[in-house]
Amino acid sequence: MERREERDGRRWVCRTCGEKLVCIDIDPVETREFASSLANLACQREVRTDFVGFQEWLDRHGPFDAVVDGANVGLYSQHNFSFFQLNSVVNGLRQMSPSKKLPLVILHSRRVKGGPADTPNNKRLIESWRRAGSLYTTPNGSNDDWYWLYAAVSCGSLLVTNDEMRDHLFELLGTSFFPRWKEKHQVRLTYGKHGKQGPNFHMPPPYSIVIQESERGSWHIPTVSGDDIETPRQWVCATRDANAVSYSSCAKLAHIAS
Ligand SMILES: [Zn+2]
Repeated sequence: MERREERDGRRWVCRTCGEKLVCIDIDPVETREFASSLANLACQREVRTDFVGFQEWLDRHGPFDAVVDGANVGLYSQHNFSFFQLNSVVNGLRQMSPSKKLPLVILHSRRVKGGPADTPNNKRLIESWRRAGSLYTTPNGSNDDWYWLYAAVSCGSLLVTNDEMRDHLFELLGTSFFPRWKEKHQVRLTYGKHGKQGPNFHMPPPYSIVIQESERGSWHIPTVSGDDIETPRQWVCATRDANAVSYSSCAKLAHIAS
């Protein structure tokens, strides 16, 4: 237990100055307001009764610990949609869930008919997710992005997608809350690294990506670059030299231990 805490503790620490980074929690009231403005936007852009029907479905079957952008996960580095890959992510998330609950998978209805969805194994898989109340298929003509995003925000759950969420739809959401929410909830995936076949889950960082002053007066400034899984973000670490007469700052690029 002690070792575990020590390891977790180190993840927050700057390798240059040894100071911890802070985690700023998201206000639940702000989250609720964002969820309702998201629902309003979705109702304007989607068929209103479809989206309201989804909200009611979510009230009955939720909340979930994680929501999966099914199309993004099933197509990640694949030419054809892979239910096998999607299933490995679903199982991985179930194992991580404190209550061992299945995540919610959102898929457009065209993904569950024809093509890979018609093999006997995949039919059984789709049916088992349906019966468990962990699959929602969005109707013809819908944009499933509204559905998985709304589900994750309203459940306060993790959102599993490699979509960077920068296209037109996400621009409508503004820049005051959404980027902070995304930083704290998006889980990204890689495959076949670290000597194993299954998915690797890249969890949200346990610290906030904002300019911050630490307890002993170091400043940490996140750089814009390095916002992907393979090359972690670099920070500028500005520490005060206690021996200097004037407290001049010396900025260095720092790696945050992970
Ligand atoms: Zn530092």
